[in-house]
Amino acid sequence: MRAGWYLGGAAVAGIAAYTAGAQARGRMWDPAILRRGPATGRPRIALTFDDGPHPQLTAATLDILRAAACPAAFFCIGEQALRHPELVRRARDEGHLIGNHSMLHRHAWLLTPEATRREIAGGAAALREVLSAPVAWMRPPWGAFNAATYVAARQAQQRIALWSVAAPDWAPGARAEAILAAVLARAHPGAIVDLHDGGRDEAASAEMVAALPALVAGLRARGYDLVRMDHLGSGEGAAGL
Ligand SMILES: [Zn+2]
Repeated sequence: MRAGWYLGGAAVAGIAAYTAGAQARGRMWDPAILRRGPATGRPRIALTFDDGPHPQLTAATLDILRAAACPAAFFCIGEQALRHPELVRRARDEGHLIGNHSMLHRHAWLLTPEATRREIAGGAAALREVLSAPVAWMRPPWGAFNAATYVAARQAQQRIALWSVAAPDWAPGARAEAILAAVLARAHPGAIVDLHDGGRDEAASAEMVAALPALVAGLRARGYDLVRMDHLGSGEGAAGL
């Protein structure tokens, strides 16, 4: 009973962290931060995957994307990229965009500016080592950022990318049907969809993997082209894409 109560508390805390991050994004609108592409022209959507690479979940995600000829973006945690570099290189080689999701996935609001700098620069350095090339984009963990994040991203020569459609694939108890339904219901032209192929909640990410084939097919059936995030075109915060 007590263990269950604590688990419930952790879930609520996780939801609160995500909500707070979303509120911060709403307040701190900035054209330098990419949240979505344009709504004009042929409707396009970009899938993005956070928290990998994970030996099984990322591999399964890549298999599905390859079978569906669907490009995407992977925001990798630096520490995990160093642990599974072959998966990062495989994603790059199969045409996906690789982005930085910080070194250890710590929440920006709990870090000193120097620790934020280390997190962002460390993740960028890890991916540069794995790919033998710099990455241009970063996504702060939980989408939470502050002034130190801006400075650190600029110093690391990285642009910040968030999302406009969140999927419930990161919380304990996530179900494939709910993930699929939420993304299809929230989809809009120019959307950047935030999914999770990492193992911070393996069961939840496994549900995302289970939903992914139907998710890709469902978006296409609704008339969307699935493109890489950096190929969405000039939309909100997308100047210079
Ligand atoms: Zn994350």
